Amino acid sequence: MEGADVTTTVRRGLVRSRMRYAQWVLTNEKSGGPPAHAAECVACGESSEGADDWEPPQLWCLRHAGRTGHDLFRGMVTSYFRATMHQVL
Ligand SMILES: [Zn+2]
Repeated sequence: MEGADVTTTVRRGLVRSRMRYAQWVLTNEKSGGPPAHAAECVACGESSEGADDWEPPQLWCLRHAGRTGHDLFRGMVTSYFRATMHQVL
């Protein structure tokens, strides 16, 4: 992905602008921890705790269904990405 960075300077009453283009790269970031898995009940909005894999949220769904009768859940994975400037064009 490319983005433009505009630098504007004022010298002796003249406005000079310089545009600099840069290419950015997005990579998976692991320093924030492993991807967090969670489930949310579509009927009431209650959600499970985050976990390293799907097993705990899926158990939460079954318990929630047994307790409330709600039967539709949304699975969510939270992961991290790092944007780094790859090349100044
Ligand atoms: Zn619910």
